[in-house]
Amino acid sequence: MNQFRFSRRPDIGDRIRVSFEFFPPKNDEMEGRLWETIQRLEPLRPRFVSVTYGAGGSTRERTARTVKRILDGSTLMPAAHLTCIDADRDTVDQVIGEFASMGVRNFVALRGDPAAGVGTQYRPHPNGYANGADMVAALRRQGDFDISVSAYPERHPESPDFATDIDMLKRKVDNGATRAITQFFFDNDVYERYVERVRRAGIYIPIVPGILPVHNIRQVVSFSARCGALVPAWLRERFDGLDNDPQTHMLVAAAVAAEQVLDLVERGVGDFHFYTMNRADLAFAVCHMIGIRAVVAAAA
Ligand code: FAD
Repeated sequence: MNQFRFSRRPDIGDRIRVSFEFFPPKNDEMEGRLWETIQRLEPLRPRFVSVTYGAGGSTRERTARTVKRILDGSTLMPAAHLTCIDADRDTVDQVIGEFASMGVRNFVALRGDPAAGVGTQYRPHPNGYANGADMVAALRRQGDFDISVSAYPERHPESPDFATDIDMLKRKVDNGATRAITQFFFDNDVYERYVERVRRAGIYIPIVPGILPVHNIRQVVSFSARCGALVPAWLRERFDGLDNDPQTHMLVAAAVAAEQVLDLVERGVGDFHFYTMNRADLAFAVCHMIGIRAVVAAAA
């Protein structure tokens, strides 16, 4: 990575597009904080902002409420995550219809994680859709939507090998997915090798890297272990001794995420999806580093 090479290319912000992911708030206080986050990130003009669907489909109403508020109260384009966990086909089809009649045109189609959490045994609903590919097909049947799906540069933990994993991605694309967003990763070589594998398999949709700024290294290590993402030793070492020093932790997190994203830009990547954890600070700082500037609407 070479920051000097980067600084000689002031046009770079123009060819970079970002999206932000939020989770639906659990209470009024969290909702207030999410709304502040959304308002802070809105002037960066993201391509879309997505709202997750809780494990086991547990946040169906809250996801819908959050998406509606974004539609009604901002200029942003919301994308609704949707999973098939613990729901029969009619229910999923009905939820798709409800989002569509609200005006939602963008979805992130997923199988989802079981209600018991990431890494627990998945069993498809007996009358339900079985996986992400089925979900894409269900969406396509109802409309000409923009459909993002998941991709796993380090393999999904349930995949026996990369071939099986990429085969599932291929099925999603064949059913109509328009873009894949990756699970977070910290080693850009892993991402690059994965994209090469995907292209060799004849898959040509954008594979947008999912970037997770490290808001809390302990939580990231614990979550990564369950979802099969590697936290390299060098990354842990950068946060050594910072458990009780949130300010330095945040500065280091911004530097680490900026370093990763700038390196990906150097490798030719132009789209980024940020897992914001409903916080604006780190995502905003990294976007600034890659040349994205807030655009404030002129007063009428
Ligand atoms: P799929 O794409 O259907 O499958 C994932 C992989 O598992 C496949 O590549 C396949 O190789 C393997 N696999 C699946 N079934 C089998 C099988 N029977 N035998 C062998 N291998 C199999 N979770 C939520 O609950 N809510 C969300 O809002 C949410 N948003 C996400 C957004 C992104 C961008 C990403 C990357 C993940 C998200 N997740 C979310 C997590 C996701 O639901 C989990 O990773 C889940 O375990 C798999 O869902 P999927 O849609 O990726 O599954």
